[in-house]
Amino acid sequence: MLIFKIAYWANTVLQLVIRIPFGMSTRSRNKTEQRVSPTENILLLFLTISTGILPLIYSVTNWLSFANYALPSWLGWMGIFIMTGSLLIFWRAHYDLKANWSPSLELYEGHTLITNGIYKYIRHPMYASLLLANIAQILLIQNWIAGPISLIMFTFFYTFRSSAEEKMMMERFGDQYSAYKKATGGILPRL
Ligand code: SAH
Repeated sequence: MLIFKIAYWANTVLQLVIRIPFGMSTRSRNKTEQRVSPTENILLLFLTISTGILPLIYSVTNWLSFANYALPSWLGWMGIFIMTGSLLIFWRAHYDLKANWSPSLELYEGHTLITNGIYKYIRHPMYASLLLANIAQILLIQNWIAGPISLIMFTFFYTFRSSAEEKMMMERFGDQYSAYKKATGGILPRL
């Protein structure tokens, strides 16, 4: 249904609307650490293809229509519901992290460890929001090539990125980060 495709792309646009002002607020900050690895760049490229390029081809052409599947419409609406939750978490994480956000693994001069707001419960709310968006993608982009693949890509990306990120944070914040780690969940809240 067209509404499901529109909801998918509305989420992409709203993610950009949320992110751009925070991205701009980091521009004047001096970086003291930047860890960019070829593996991460490749995983990010695969993620961009599976969340952007393939859904775009699915949405505007019929090249992938041989691999379409049709879910009951309530599952599509469930996709919109999950996507909305994902967007709210995405906004809240940016709001709490403020100018400490970075697209790759970076630390700034005067970088502070955020442990309040949504970061009080989980260390990776932005990745949690991406996980929900990838689950919603399966329900909204009903195509075997453009729908479910991104969840697989995201799993590889998250596994690699979160461990490299936590290693970097541990090196910078030491005991403060290890106490924070003990008190919080990673991508899901601690029970
Ligand atoms: N993993 C987090 C942040 C993603 S943005 C999330 O999913 O919400 C990645 C950058 O955020 C990293 O380069 C690191 O510098 C910064 N960062 C991650 N956790 C942080 C925290 N608790 N406090 C401050 N900066 C953090």
